[in-house]
Amino acid sequence: MMYRMWIFLLSLVACTSPSEQAMTLSTQKDTATTLATIAPLVQDTLAPTFDLNYIMGKFDPTQHPDFVLIAPEYADREGMYLHKATYAAFEQMYSDARKEGIKLVIRSATRNFEAQKRIWENKWTGVTKIESDENAAETTPNPKERALKILRYSSMPSTSRHHWGTDIDLNSFSNSYFEQGEGKKLYDWLLANAAKYGFCQPYTAKGEARPHGYEEERWHWSYLPIAKPLTKLAANSLTDNMVQGFKGAETATEIGVVKKYILGINQDCLPQ
Ligand SMILES: [Zn+2]
Repeated sequence: MMYRMWIFLLSLVACTSPSEQAMTLSTQKDTATTLATIAPLVQDTLAPTFDLNYIMGKFDPTQHPDFVLIAPEYADREGMYLHKATYAAFEQMYSDARKEGIKLVIRSATRNFEAQKRIWENKWTGVTKIESDENAAETTPNPKERALKILRYSSMPSTSRHHWGTDIDLNSFSNSYFEQGEGKKLYDWLLANAAKYGFCQPYTAKGEARPHGYEEERWHWSYLPIAKPLTKLAANSLTDNMVQGFKGAETATEIGVVKKYILGINQDCLPQ
C-alpha cells in the first residue's frame, strides 16, 4: 500500500513543475504526512545515484550528498550515517515513540563495502567469533559451509541492505531482548507503528513464508520507500558473479546470494 502511494507520488513529481508538485502534494491530504514531508527530499536523487555501485556499497557515505550524520541523541556512538530520507522518517518515528515512553537507539546504520568487508573477513579468518564463540576458520574449513555459517547473521560485502542508507539496527543485537520488559514494549510498538513511517522488518522468523536468507533479526528495520526500488534494481541487475573482492567470495555463486539472501526477506518488505 505504502509502496503504491510512493510510486504515485514519484510519478507526480516526475510529470509536474515544482509549483504544481507542491500543490499536488499538499492536496494529498489522505497521504501520510511523513511521506509527503519526505518526498521532496528524494525526488531528485532516485534516478542518478541508485546504480549498481550504490547497491553494492561502493561509495563513501561521509562524502555522499544524500547522506547525513546521525545526531548523537539517536545513536549509541558517533559517526554513523543514513540516507537523508531514511533519517527524516526515523526522526519522526523516534519522536512519536518517545511520547509513549519508548527510546529507540540506533546501534548500526550505513556500512559501505569496505566496512562490510572488515566484518565479513574478520569472521572468515576467525578474528571475530560467530555465535556461541565459534571460530569459523577453525571449525569449518570447507569454504561454502563456512560462508553459510557466517551468512546466518552477516552479509557478504556487495549484498548488505546496510549499504543502502535505508537500514538500521535498533537497541539490541539479541532477539531475546525483545521478548520481555522494555525490549518487548519497544518491539510491540515497532510492529504496530513502524510501517506508518515506512519501516519494515526484513528478517522475520524463518519458515514456510521465508525459507531462505538470514536468521530472524528483530533489531533490523528498513526504510521501504527507498529500499524497495533498490531491492528491485538488485533483483534485475545484480548477479552472484559480481559479488567479489573479499575472502570467500568464490562461494557466492554456488550459494546463490542474490536470490537467497537479498531477496530472501519478509514478503511485506519486497517490491510488488
Ligand atoms: Zn542490520
